[in-house]
Amino acid sequence: MAITLPELPYPKNALEPHISEKTLEFHHGKHHAAYVNNTNNLIQGTPLEKADLETIIKESAKDSSKVGIFNNSAQVWNHTFYWHSMKPNGGGEPPKALLDKIIADFGSFDNFKNEFKQAAATQFGSGWAWLVLDPADKKLKVLKTPNAETPITKNLKPLITIDVWEHAYYLDYQNRRPDYIDTFIAKLVNWEFALKNLEA
Ligand code: MN
Repeated sequence: MAITLPELPYPKNALEPHISEKTLEFHHGKHHAAYVNNTNNLIQGTPLEKADLETIIKESAKDSSKVGIFNNSAQVWNHTFYWHSMKPNGGGEPPKALLDKIIADFGSFDNFKNEFKQAAATQFGSGWAWLVLDPADKKLKVLKTPNAETPITKNLKPLITIDVWEHAYYLDYQNRRPDYIDTFIAKLVNWEFALKNLEA
């Protein structure tokens, strides 16, 4: 099997009370695992069989006949990135180097938070919200993507993401997506991971 399910970077109960062990059991153990299995099944016997995950995503994104491969492989990547975008006792202010960059590009940390929350709340249906660096103008930007769409096919460098598919929050928040988003920013987001991505 070419693609494997990565371990969570923390125990399944580590994000409680904000995200329950039950949610992570399903989200990582069932949803993320299914994307991995589907990807492996779909690439079997094709030229992408031995390719690495990012190559699979970028090649399938260019070919509408490979939309199934794209959807599943991009979801594998997005979920791994999402797990690392959170940590126990996350939230608060970013490290100074990242905070300064956020203030330079969004005007203030509050402006950034409002823009990120707005993007996550208004992604219609399933999808993701992201903080990215746009290498074209070297500015941080917020964007939202539907379904499995991912910034790595758009020449953007992701720093953090939030999953706003209902399976990410429904057991803990039911329909209250804005409460899940507020909690992500206040209690979960891993700013050290974001800074590491900015500097990579
Ligand atoms: Mn998900």
